[in-house]
Amino acid sequence: MRKLSTMLILVLVFALLITGCGKKEELRVGTEATFAPFEFTNDDNEIVGFDIDLATEIAKKLNKELKIVNMDFDGLIPAIQANQVDLAVAGMTVNPERLKNVNFSTPYYDASQVIVVQETNNTVTTRQDLEGKIIAVQLGTTGADAAEEIANATLKRFGKVNEAFLELKNGRADAVIIDAPVAENYIQHLTGLKIASEPFTEEKYAIAVKKENSDLLEDVNKALTEIIDSGKYQELYDKWFKDEE
Ligand code: GLN
Repeated sequence: MRKLSTMLILVLVFALLITGCGKKEELRVGTEATFAPFEFTNDDNEIVGFDIDLATEIAKKLNKELKIVNMDFDGLIPAIQANQVDLAVAGMTVNPERLKNVNFSTPYYDASQVIVVQETNNTVTTRQDLEGKIIAVQLGTTGADAAEEIANATLKRFGKVNEAFLELKNGRADAVIIDAPVAENYIQHLTGLKIASEPFTEEKYAIAVKKENSDLLEDVNKALTEIIDSGKYQELYDKWFKDEE
């Protein structure tokens, strides 16, 4: 009888071990999915985009299970600090302010801010033309920072990019200031809008990691290098940015 129960326990422990081993550790990636073509919700209600593919490849290299966590952009850095996500892959620009709170991977994309207005607006081509105007931006972004520098402008801040564009589309704002690739994407899908300015900032996107998590940062950088060297990066670039060139 004793032998039998010992055996049963052994079998049970073994079974637990096997199933336990099959379970991969999660890589929790925070993003804000109204930032097409980097991250957005498709018609099948899945979160997809360049950043999501990139995160998928990184998770593969780290032998982890990717879990996307969708939230407002200004919640991403606090979520990293509070250990609610491991990374933010969200078209996030490296800047000194953010570097106080998180570390960044090697940059993976060059971007810039542009001004978007209604197609019928012929008075705006530079930032100076927005003085005293209403500008819709996304809360906590470099676009919001740029708008804050414009004299006498009224800022309307939104958690999600699409809300800022709807404000412009509905005539409740004169302009949106936003990253160029995302502007291109929105004006293709929301009719009646246009890009009014030249790109006017120089920004680099990188992946944000918790300050204390230097092992993960190293792993992510190694994965990024491999993804670039293998040609995978170019493949993803062509997949998501081809029609914008
Ligand atoms: N690149 C901009 C920033 O870092 C916007 C990012 C975003 O809205 N997802 O602030």
